[in-house]
Amino acid sequence: MKLPIAADSVKGFLDPAEGAALYAAARSVAALGPCLEIGSYCGRSALYLGTACRDGAGHVFTVDHHSGSEEHQPGWDFHDPALWDPEANAVDTLPVLRDTLRRAGLEDVVTPIVGRAEIVARYWRTPLSLVFIDGSHSGEAAHRDYDLWHPHVMQAGLLVIHDVFPDPADGGRPPFEIYVRALDSGRFEQGGLVKSLRILKRI
Ligand code: MG
Repeated sequence: MKLPIAADSVKGFLDPAEGAALYAAARSVAALGPCLEIGSYCGRSALYLGTACRDGAGHVFTVDHHSGSEEHQPGWDFHDPALWDPEANAVDTLPVLRDTLRRAGLEDVVTPIVGRAEIVARYWRTPLSLVFIDGSHSGEAAHRDYDLWHPHVMQAGLLVIHDVFPDPADGGRPPFEIYVRALDSGRFEQGGLVKSLRILKRI
């Protein structure tokens, strides 16, 4: 894997080992159909997914309303004042995502969709080779993302979930809960597992 720009030049929370696993997962299925990411933020994971799809003749759609999740809002742990748009009086990560894709030369491989994943899901019809759930970690949002998007994973396609922490002391529960739901559904089997990244294969 050779990323066009350094992963740590992009703000984000994906660890390099998780990124390498995400790249390998996407690279293995890219030719089967498009990949879709929920939660673009500044584009660090889109950099890995996009590079995999560039190398594997695929395409990535990355969905985000770009106003930040709960933890990115002022007063919260992961608030970044550099991402604050004073005129909008809101977090706005879209210009940074666009800058990431431009710098990486991935604008023709990664297509940002600006909006709420649950609204996009209403109109989505294309089978996906990979769905990466890395949006809001609130219980409501995580379960909704799982409910609305896992049916779009094609047979032999991959469902990838970030921030899965089996031990509650390490992080929030909802990503772990949807990972367990996917396994319990009988529709997915365990694939790769790197740090907090879980890869599930559609049976
Ligand atoms: Mg994450």
